[in-house]
Amino acid sequence: MTDIRITGGCQCGAVRYALHAEPTEPRICHCRMCQKHAGSFFGAFANIDMKDFELTRGELGLFRSSGDGDRTFCRDCGTPLGYLHISGDRMAITIGSLDNPAAIRPITQYGIEARMPWFADLAQLPAYESGKYDGASAELYEMIGRTNRQHPDHDAEVWPPAK
Ligand SMILES: [Zn+2]
Ligand SMILES: [Zn+2]
Repeated sequence: MTDIRITGGCQCGAVRYALHAEPTEPRICHCRMCQKHAGSFFGAFANIDMKDFELTRGELGLFRSSGDGDRTFCRDCGTPLGYLHISGDRMAITIGSLDNPAAIRPITQYGIEARMPWFADLAQLPAYESGKYDGASAELYEMIGRTNRQHPDHDAEVWPPAK
């Protein structure tokens, strides 16, 4: 294995993984299957050989979405984690499940037959930071921060934390 260690995992922290190579072919896919898997307008993936993929906590939930492979996810919190090819030797990880997704910039888009007709307009929508829009309650955001149970964006020795 290489010295490269790029980590990620699900929202609840039950599943954590490490990549030991730079993921390749970062992309978004607008196809209906990726929309359903992500529960969003598109999926965002990058490839990794399974020899460079280390599951460091938990196990992957699998849904065989077609004869080409399994959609992977956390069985506890539902976070989409990737796409495991039927050959078993490579996987596409979801960019959003990485601890530092901004480091992986997509270079291609697929499945454009199902792309939202207003996709290109999204960047022009009115834009606010969390809690900075009209009507946002400071108390609500303070409470969300205080009760946030999302796994942090780095490996943790113990999870969930002792309370
Ligand atoms: Zn989870
Ligand atoms: Zn797709």
